[in-house]
Amino acid sequence: MTTRPRTRPHRHIAATAIADHTSTTFVIGLDYDVKGEVHWTSAVTGLIDGIYSGFKVHEGRRVRSAGGTVDMPWPVIVRLNYWVDIPFRRIPDLHTRASRLDVLRRDGWTCAYCGGHARTVDHIIPESRGGTWTWGNLVAACAVCNQGKADRTPDEARMKLLWDPRATTSEYAGVQAEVWRILESGF
Ligand SMILES: [Zn+2]
Repeated sequence: MTTRPRTRPHRHIAATAIADHTSTTFVIGLDYDVKGEVHWTSAVTGLIDGIYSGFKVHEGRRVRSAGGTVDMPWPVIVRLNYWVDIPFRRIPDLHTRASRLDVLRRDGWTCAYCGGHARTVDHIIPESRGGTWTWGNLVAACAVCNQGKADRTPDEARMKLLWDPRATTSEYAGVQAEVWRILESGF
């Protein structure tokens, strides 16, 4: 049996800043469904208190407390250790405007074409062809896939979307796709 520190380290925790990252951590349930997101300090506290288990961590970012009692990778996705029934959040209207950060956050910084780490967004229908900056026309994409696709539709570029924001019922479709990808890769 392991002993867990019972301190609540919110105040003294510092995370290495990454410009385009977020302050929230995604939460999945025992069934691996994405339940929502919490502030990263709540995720860290929950990991320490045994409410969550780690599922996906950031490649470079770490969480460190001033006293050195906490030093762990920054949690991107955590999994609840208990059964909690949380209703899904509905997707925003597909035709409303979304920013680059909105879309990166929604898709969990996961490339919709290769599953790699994404820092850019792709217009499914290219801007040059009338594609808009809307929730339904944008997906997170890595630079390689984005440049490879260029001014083409996925069909024209023969690139398959791992999930399609136009055909999903959850706001967290991108994160959910990443969870299935991690599970299939033998996590
Ligand atoms: Zn990619």
